[in-house]
Amino acid sequence: MSKRIFISMSLLALLTILLSVVALTFIMFQQLSEDMERELKNQALYLRVGVSESGADYLAQIKGEDRESRITLIDPQGNVLFDNRAPAETMENHGDRPEVKDALAAGEGYDVRLSQTVGRHTYYYALRLDDGNILRVASTTDSAIAALANSAPVIAAIVLLILGVALVYAKHRTKRIVRPINDIDLENPIENDVYDELAPLLTRIHQQKNSIDRQIQELKRRRQQFDEITENMAEGLVVMDDAGNILSINKSALRFLGRDSEQREIARQIEDENIHLSVLNRNLSLQKMVNTALTEGPVKEIFQVEEKRYQVRATPIIEEGRTRGAILLILDVTEQIRSEQIRKEFTANVSHELKTPLTAISGYAELMRDGKVEQQDVSRFAGKIYDESAGLIALVEDIIRLSQLDEKNVPSEMEKVDLLDLAMKVKEKLDPLAKLKKVRMEVVGDRVEISGVPKLIEEMLANLCDNAIKYNKENGSVRIVVAEEDGAAILSVEDTGIGIPAEHHSRIFERFYRVDKSHSKQTGGTGLGLSIVKHIAGFHNAHIEMDSVPDKGTRIAVKFPNL
Ligand code: ADP
Repeated sequence: MSKRIFISMSLLALLTILLSVVALTFIMFQQLSEDMERELKNQALYLRVGVSESGADYLAQIKGEDRESRITLIDPQGNVLFDNRAPAETMENHGDRPEVKDALAAGEGYDVRLSQTVGRHTYYYALRLDDGNILRVASTTDSAIAALANSAPVIAAIVLLILGVALVYAKHRTKRIVRPINDIDLENPIENDVYDELAPLLTRIHQQKNSIDRQIQELKRRRQQFDEITENMAEGLVVMDDAGNILSINKSALRFLGRDSEQREIARQIEDENIHLSVLNRNLSLQKMVNTALTEGPVKEIFQVEEKRYQVRATPIIEEGRTRGAILLILDVTEQIRSEQIRKEFTANVSHELKTPLTAISGYAELMRDGKVEQQDVSRFAGKIYDESAGLIALVEDIIRLSQLDEKNVPSEMEKVDLLDLAMKVKEKLDPLAKLKKVRMEVVGDRVEISGVPKLIEEMLANLCDNAIKYNKENGSVRIVVAEEDGAAILSVEDTGIGIPAEHHSRIFERFYRVDKSHSKQTGGTGLGLSIVKHIAGFHNAHIEMDSVPDKGTRIAVKFPNL
């Protein structure tokens, strides 16, 4: 803009200067013409005095003087009687010259004619003398254009000088005109004190700025809402455009795609540039899914990434009949699939576990029915049937308990539970069994209170103690310890029993897992005791720790957080 103002001002200055020069030249020339006429007239009047006194000789007298003017004496017929520049006889008749005609008719005549020399004008003044002759004085001078042309170098120099000054001034003015515009504070348009002419524009800018600000705020608010909702989602959410570039991705999705640690960096990159999904994760099947969603429609698949299983659902975003992009919804279904698997295995195991004692029972009963058992053995066989049935009942009870825990179909009212009291109660209940197995039981520790479901915690402790007695040695001992450590309540059961070899440590909490199947069976174990313990601990957000050394003993501790 400043360039245009500067050019306009400069052109205006140039035009003004040129027009002024031309106008001035013509005015001056006009002035010159008038002066010339007056001058010639004066000369003629003076010469008339001389001629009337001394006749044509007067003119001959001044012939020698180097006069600028041409003086001619013409008789009424137009014949030249005298001329101070050329011999009179060589000159043609002047009777037809306008100034001469006018002088003959009216006493004086005036004319201006272009002279033979290019660019010059000759001024003529003719005066009728008393004797009827005409005295004509002529003078030649430059025409206006010639005068202009002659003075061209000087004029050009002056014009250039003026133009130079004009340019400097134009530059300075341009800056001054433009500066307030450049200095406009667009953040606060109406607070600017600039040109009045700009006021409507600035008011308009102010209104539009307010409206844009409002829209941006609204967009930001919506974006924030969207981020807050998606950031806290357990599901991964990726929104992409129709080229597969990521528009938005939440924390869970980054975790699922294995880019958890670079979260912030990636979020910043996505704001700045287009990042294609393939940059985040190279899984080809995932790319294919997105392509299918974009071209054909929704797709759902399960992916395995290391230990984890993800269910990915790709849905196209369709707007006005056109696919604008796609949404990926990623769910971590590892747990779901695992529990389904566990349930399947559990069903198979249950059938197997039930089948063995039932086969035994039916076998013994068959023998007895067919009379193949000696009378003295009947009671032994009946005892076996009884034992197997007892095992079956215990098994069924544990299965029912586990499924209740699985379904969360258990009393869940949290109460204050005094762990030491509870430990005493369990000890009392299990003392007979301990005595039978020649195992000593004791309870040690502090009075620690937690919030929990008393029935469940009692069941958990009973299971741990039952194992500690069952897998003990003669004259061994079982210690229930209640303690508080770092704000957590610890309930542990220590025994001096057979211990568990290290390779089984990770598996003994699995359903039906036993270290020594025959020993477990012998002692009436169902293989479900520790699974129930694990469930109840999980229900209370408690954590289980185990230390066990074969032949030395086992310590299983349940740590309840947040006392
Ligand atoms: P079970 O009904 O067979 O006792 P659990 O789930 O209670 O089943 O225990 C799983 C297995 O862990 C047991 O079969 C046993 O081999 C082992 N176990 C559990 N507690 C102890 C312990 N205190 N000492 C040694 N082995 C144990």
